[in-house]
Amino acid sequence: MSNETPTHEKPRCRYCDKILHGRAGKIFCNVDCKNNYNSRIRSVDRAEENKRFPDVIKTIKNNYRVLKQYRLNNLKEGEIRHIRKDELRRLGFDHRFCTGAALEGGREMWKCCFEFCWKEDMNWLTFKIDPDLNTRYNY
Ligand SMILES: [Zn+2]
Repeated sequence: MSNETPTHEKPRCRYCDKILHGRAGKIFCNVDCKNNYNSRIRSVDRAEENKRFPDVIKTIKNNYRVLKQYRLNNLKEGEIRHIRKDELRRLGFDHRFCTGAALEGGREMWKCCFEFCWKEDMNWLTFKIDPDLNTRYNY
């Protein structure tokens, strides 16, 4: 009787599935199989990540297009404009998605879609133009 492990129980390379020889506990033929295996895992991870991004980016783009229609760029420094939430919602604006968020005066939360910034009241969003707020980090 042979002491050899039957072929189907011999350890195989995780990448190319060839039977492994040499020291016990080996999981790859060589460093190439190891690298290929790891890069395959990374590309699967990356594909999973990339599936999530288009919807978010589309929403932010649409938010920007909607806000541009209001000609908010005509607001002067310090000027604000109130727009009803439901009106914006009908145009596809989704106030949950933004490119920046910052506290002003330590308690007012402003969200931004690039230069367009808004704070929320019950049924209204208050807008102003403030490109600096979009990039401010003050949490
Ligand atoms: Zn291999």
